[in-house]
Amino acid sequence: KPMEDRITDIGPKKFDQFYPPVIAKNKGKWLYHEILEPGVLVHVAEGGDEVYTVRCGGARLMSTGLIREICEIADKHCEGHVRFTTRNNIEFMVDDKSKLDPLKKDLEGRKFAGGSFKFPVGGTGAGITNIVHTQGWIHCHTPATDASGTVKATMDEVFGDFQNMRLPAPLRISMACCLNMCGAVHCSDIAILGYHRKPPMLDHEYLDKLCEIPLAIAACPTGAIKPSKVEVNGEQMKSVAVNNDRCMFCGNCYTMCPSLPLADKEGDGIVLMAGGKVSNRISMPKFSKVVVAFLPNETPRWPTMTDTIKKMIEAYSSDANKYERLGEWAERIGWERFFEKCELPFTHHLIDDFRDPAYYTWRQSTQFKF
Ligand code: SF4
Ligand code: SF4
Repeated sequence: KPMEDRITDIGPKKFDQFYPPVIAKNKGKWLYHEILEPGVLVHVAEGGDEVYTVRCGGARLMSTGLIREICEIADKHCEGHVRFTTRNNIEFMVDDKSKLDPLKKDLEGRKFAGGSFKFPVGGTGAGITNIVHTQGWIHCHTPATDASGTVKATMDEVFGDFQNMRLPAPLRISMACCLNMCGAVHCSDIAILGYHRKPPMLDHEYLDKLCEIPLAIAACPTGAIKPSKVEVNGEQMKSVAVNNDRCMFCGNCYTMCPSLPLADKEGDGIVLMAGGKVSNRISMPKFSKVVVAFLPNETPRWPTMTDTIKKMIEAYSSDANKYERLGEWAERIGWERFFEKCELPFTHHLIDDFRDPAYYTWRQSTQFKF
């Protein structure tokens, strides 16, 4: 059978079956696009076809009720088509300008019981779009902080910039709840990173019964774990020993072995990073750099974290040149000035490893000093 006729339940169907007709027709023939107003884009094709897109903030975890409502809106205005961006924004597309206003009015009229917008329109251009994030305390086993909670607290504080495009350039915020970073926060203008500060606790009594000891040893990227024999209640047990000085608190061993937990109320918290980007416009892509070494988990609203992020955004907003990303601004004025302008203390925790070019951070010359 030809490939396209195969019926299988393995994997999603080929994506181009779901293109809106105007997108399928004009594939590879788009002339330009522009942002008409915050959250609204138009794409114009060589032949004159137009697509109007309304982008709304979404969430990484959605109820089936909300997804049904998204589908209902797509059926009503967009012939059943809808797309999600990689930042969990929802995009509704229409192929005629006359359909744009009814779609926008419909979206703006839908509110939660408390009165907040269900489908806030925005997230385009020189502003803050949805925060990409990881699983947090809800779904993963190694988080040092929560994902949904920190993201909600942050987005509530910076929501104005989701809609006003007042910043010098796009500002991308990302969040990962442990340093394994399945949220890929390493190239973001501002990154929130959950960080453990204590090595795993050893539950010798159960370790050999619950875990494959060689797997736990092999899981450690720094080679900090070795096999050991311990005495528990007068009985010799097979277990492991951890060289705490080598441990970087990643939690990989806990992934393999539930008898090596490392979550700890005092040890766990947040690192803030800044200045990364994936775009190669104006300057090369950059890694984010640690700018706040540790903040405690202040549930449920993380006020110190959100205040610090707001300070960075305000300093960037008032001081950067147009089109300059946060990292480009910091490099132009000098990271020393970045810390001053954002009112961030510089501590010895922020000095990085200057020996390996892969990890060069602040400055590669001997002139760097604090
Ligand atoms: Fe789990 Fe770490 Fe990913 Fe968070 S960042 S979901 S703790 S692997
Ligand atoms: Fe090794 Fe990471 Fe476990 Fe520390 S937390 S012992 S570095 S695997």
